[in-house]
Amino acid sequence: MKDSQNLQQQAGGPIAIASPLPRKSRQAKVVWRNNVVTVGGDAPVRVQSMTNTDTVDAVETAIQVRQLAQAGSEMVRITVNTPEAAAAVPYIREQLDRMGEYVPLVGDFHYNGHRLLADYPACAEALSKYRINPGNVGKGDKKDKQFGQMIEIAAKYDKAVRIGVNWGSLDQEIMAELMDQNSRRAQPWETRQVMYEALITSAVGSAELAKNIGLNPDNIILSCKVSGVQDLISVYRALAQRCDYALHLGLTEAGMATKGTVASTAALSVLLQEGIGDTIRVSLTPLPGEARTQEVVVASEILQSLGLRVFVPSVTACPGCGRTTSTTFQELAKQIDDFLRGEMPVWRTQYPGVEAMKVAVMGCIVNGPGESKHADIGISLPGNGEAPAAPVFIDGEKAMTLRGEHIAQEFQTIVQDYVQRRYGGQG
Ligand code: SF4
Repeated sequence: MKDSQNLQQQAGGPIAIASPLPRKSRQAKVVWRNNVVTVGGDAPVRVQSMTNTDTVDAVETAIQVRQLAQAGSEMVRITVNTPEAAAAVPYIREQLDRMGEYVPLVGDFHYNGHRLLADYPACAEALSKYRINPGNVGKGDKKDKQFGQMIEIAAKYDKAVRIGVNWGSLDQEIMAELMDQNSRRAQPWETRQVMYEALITSAVGSAELAKNIGLNPDNIILSCKVSGVQDLISVYRALAQRCDYALHLGLTEAGMATKGTVASTAALSVLLQEGIGDTIRVSLTPLPGEARTQEVVVASEILQSLGLRVFVPSVTACPGCGRTTSTTFQELAKQIDDFLRGEMPVWRTQYPGVEAMKVAVMGCIVNGPGESKHADIGISLPGNGEAPAAPVFIDGEKAMTLRGEHIAQEFQTIVQDYVQRRYGGQG
C-alpha cells in the first residue's frame, strides 16, 4: 500500500479520463419532410451509407435504402448517373414515403450532374442533399460554370451540398498548378504533401465559390477522401484547421472485410477522438453475398466504441480459450447479438433507452460472473470441467441458473422480458 501511495504521489493526481474532443463546425441540415438530420455543430456524428443497386430499378433501390436506414443509416446516398436514374429518383422517394421511411436521400453526381438536375426538377426536389465532386464537374471554362449550375439549383431548393473531393478524381488542373509552384520552392515539398494541398484547395475553393454563388454556407459539408490511413489523418487535420464547414469523414475504397473494417476504424477513430468529423461513411467492399448493411454496422460500432453514440445494446463476450472447447458459447454470443440487432428497428420506438443496454455472454467462471455483474444482464456459461449450470445475472445480482439443452433460447426469452420490463414502462 505504501508503495502504491508513493507511486500515485509521483504521478501527481488522478489519471485523466480520455474522451473525444468537442467538435466545432457549422451545422448543416439535411431534411426530408419532418425528418431533419442535423450535421455538425453540437449534433451527434451521423452515419451515412450508399446503395449498390441500379438506381433505375426504383423498387430494388428503395428496398435497399430502407434496409440501410433500418440498420441505422441516417442518410443514404444513391448514384444519379443517367437520365433514367434521375427520372427514377422521385419514384424511389415515393416508395420510401409510402413505407413511412423518411430517411433523407443524397444524390451522387459526376460529370453530368448539372444537366440531370436541370432536366429533372422532380429529382432535384426529391433529394435532400447533393454530393458534387469538383474533380468531375468539367474541364477548363466549363468547370466553374457547370459547378455553378448545380449550386444554383441547390440554393433554389435549399438543399445541403457535400463538396466531396476524392484523390482518385482530384482536379488535375489544381494539382498541376500546385506542382508547378512546388518546383519553384527552395525546398520542395514531398509530392504527397502537394497532393494533400490540392485536395484541400479544391474542397475549400469550391466551397468559397458555392458561397459566392449564393449557397447558404450552413448548407455546405466538405470531404477530402483518400485511401491511406495516415494520408486521411494528415488531410483532415489540415482541413479542419482551414475551414469551419461540417466535415464528412471516410476512408475511400477501404477494401473488404477485415482489412476495410480495420483500416476505416483506425483512421476514423484517430480523427473523431480529435473532434474532427461530423458524419461518417465506411466504404466497405461487401464480400460476395454479404449484406450491404454491414457498412452501417461497422460505422455505428466505431461511434459506439468511442462513446460518441449508442445505437444497439452491446454484447460483451470473452474471446474463449482452452476452457471453452465447445462452440456453445460462440453460438450463444452470436445468437444474442443477431437477436438484439434484429429487434432494434422495433425496439428503438417501443423501448426508449434500450440501445444503451449491456449484455454479457461469458465462457466460464473465471471472468464470467464478474463481467456479467457489470452488465445489465449477463450469463456465465459452464467451461470445461465445470458443473453444467449457467448463472444469469440481472442488474448485478444473480437471478437464476439455467441448465439443460435449451439455455440459449431461455436466455433470449429472459433478455426479451428484461427489455419489456425495464424499458417498456411496466415496472
Ligand atoms: S472468461 Fe473463461 S472462457 Fe472466457 S476467456 Fe476468460 S477464462 Fe477463457
